[in-house]
Amino acid sequence: MSSDSTAPNQLRAETLVEALPYIRQFSGKTVVVKYGGNALAGTSEHDALALFAEDIVMMRLVGMRPVVVHGGGPQISELMARLGKETEFVDGLRVTDAETVGIARMVLKGQVNPQLVAAINVHGNYAVGVSGVDGGLIRAQARDERLGFVGDVTEINPGVLEGLLDDEFIPVIATIGSDATGQAYNINADTVAGRIAEALGAEKLVYLTDIEGLRAQVDDAASLIRQTTADHLDDLVADGTIAGGMIPKVSSCQQAVRSGVRRAHILDGRIAHVLLLELFTDEGIGTMVVADQAALDAHLAETNAADTRSSTTNVAAMPGAAS
Ligand code: ADP
Ligand code: MG
Repeated sequence: MSSDSTAPNQLRAETLVEALPYIRQFSGKTVVVKYGGNALAGTSEHDALALFAEDIVMMRLVGMRPVVVHGGGPQISELMARLGKETEFVDGLRVTDAETVGIARMVLKGQVNPQLVAAINVHGNYAVGVSGVDGGLIRAQARDERLGFVGDVTEINPGVLEGLLDDEFIPVIATIGSDATGQAYNINADTVAGRIAEALGAEKLVYLTDIEGLRAQVDDAASLIRQTTADHLDDLVADGTIAGGMIPKVSSCQQAVRSGVRRAHILDGRIAHVLLLELFTDEGIGTMVVADQAALDAHLAETNAADTRSSTTNVAAMPGAAS
């Protein structure tokens, strides 16, 4: 027991103290987290899932109301391949015939969803898996005849989620929707996450993906955009900076922050405990999206206040405090 042990203990205490104002701020607030299919498909799948589950449980235990929405594109493709069924794409969108929507439903609700639920429930009886069919949560209609049973959201009925949240459960949502006739549709999980955040009046919408955030140049990791506004993102969508799988995330972030969700974040799901780092430390991580310049100015003023607080508790001196 040398004096060496003092410093790490001090850092631990300071990290916990740093979290205090955030725990207070987020208590009772709803946070919708979209967990990407690519994050799930990683080589260390089990570890990534376990770390994610710890973060979600921590959020719940400090009084937040977390809601998990998940994708599963890679897992659907994998089962299609095993069944010898070709994945066909039109304009980058999966063509979903009747057999494919059946496979998608099986993978999302039968495989990916219970994996997430089980990982969370290692820590207690918190998570309940639902699909968009349950309680009429996600009403959908066909997007385009050529794409088959790919659905657009027509309506979100959040009652089933509100009931679960009020009973202190963590809803975990597989993004299958249904139309008035009961036909199932596969729906983009990014879009669903945004619409659910809006319907629940969430404080935050968080996307966990396989890149460090939004880049101003797709092939340049140094071009990370740390904070931006929905208005500025209009330009980046128009000039093609935002491409591929980022498009539905960005447009959902824009719509959500313009509809009352205070902040949206695009974070690197490959970073261990990235959710805790974003939520409970002073320094932001990944990309933060707010509605407009006024909201961004207000955020910067808050951050300055936090800096002052940090220096008084000496947290600023912590190596790698929040990165
Ligand atoms: P997820 O499974 O999380 O939905 P996606 O592959 O659908 O993942 O979307 C994330 C991908 O979007 C990134 O890996 C990246 O290749 C791509 N992308 C396109 N434009 C951008 C951009 N401007 N900044 C960052 N990533 C981008
Ligand atoms: Mg995607």
